[in-house]
Amino acid sequence: MVGNPYEELKAISDAVYAGERTAWGQDVLALLGRNGIRPRGDDGTLHKVTFSVAKEPDMDTLVVGLRYQKRDGSFTEDTFVFQPGKEIVKCYGTKIERLLPEYKGTHKAPPTNPIVLHCLGPDNHKYELTAGDLADTKRKYPQGQMPCPVCGRPIPLQPLLRKVE
Ligand SMILES: [Zn+2]
Repeated sequence: MVGNPYEELKAISDAVYAGERTAWGQDVLALLGRNGIRPRGDDGTLHKVTFSVAKEPDMDTLVVGLRYQKRDGSFTEDTFVFQPGKEIVKCYGTKIERLLPEYKGTHKAPPTNPIVLHCLGPDNHKYELTAGDLADTKRKYPQGQMPCPVCGRPIPLQPLLRKVE
C-alpha cells in the first residue's frame, strides 16, 4: 500500500463535492496507478471513471469504477473498493456484488440510452456511449473523430444519434 489510498481518494472527492475540483478522473487514475492498478489495455476501451459512496456497511466505503467497452461491444466495469486504513480491493467481474450487494447488476449494465456510432471501416463496427461520454470524447478528440477500438479506422463523433431501445 502506498500512502493511504482511502484518505487520498476522500480528499479528491471532498474537493469535487466542494466544487474546488472538476477534472478528477485523471487524479483517480493516477491514485490507482500509484497503487499498481492500471486500466485494461487490450481488453477494452476505457469509457468512464465513476465514483460512489457505498451505503452499506457504513458511509466510509468509497467505490471507484472503471467502465470499459469490450471489443465485442459489450460493457463491463472493474470496481475498486477503498476503506480506511486498508489496501484497495480490486473487484473484477461480479466480486463487487458479493462484497457490496447494493452494487448488484452494475457490472455489465450498458449506459442508459446509449448513442451508437459506427466506424468508417468496411465492417462498420458499432461503438456505444452515453451523451455525457460523447461530450467527454469530443473534448478528447477535438478533430471530431476517434479511432475505432477494433479496426483503428475513424469513428465520426457527430452523426447517427440513434438510440438503442
Ligand atoms: Zn472499425
